[in-house]
Amino acid sequence: MLHIVFTMFIVACAMLAAHEFGHVVVTKLLGGQWLGVERQGFLIGVRLSVDSLSISQVALTLAAGPAAEIVIVLICSLLVPRYYALWVLILALQWIGNVIPWHVIPNDGTRLWQLWQHGMIKATRQPAKT
Ligand SMILES: [Zn+2]
Repeated sequence: MLHIVFTMFIVACAMLAAHEFGHVVVTKLLGGQWLGVERQGFLIGVRLSVDSLSISQVALTLAAGPAAEIVIVLICSLLVPRYYALWVLILALQWIGNVIPWHVIPNDGTRLWQLWQHGMIKATRQPAKT
């Protein structure tokens, strides 16, 4: 039992690393910059400069983190297929904490939601064409 708990912990850590790596890779591919690793309490993240990116590109960088976690689930499922449900459960728990826009923590879902709202506000402020 202890070994599966330890394995789940390692997989969760691998998902978190892949998550941050996904943010960094997509940001760099789109022309943004990686400014380093950031720590707030026991949470670790990456600092990115996305000033040169469009709103949709920033949305892509945000979505890349959770999407990268799928790669870890696929790798674990290939290596240890009998625990497939556990890998998916860990992914689901990570996504519940990060993809749902809770608005109490600045997670990716909240940031995507704010970008979507900003995009909608910007679209409605455009002058009418004559
Ligand atoms: Zn993220």
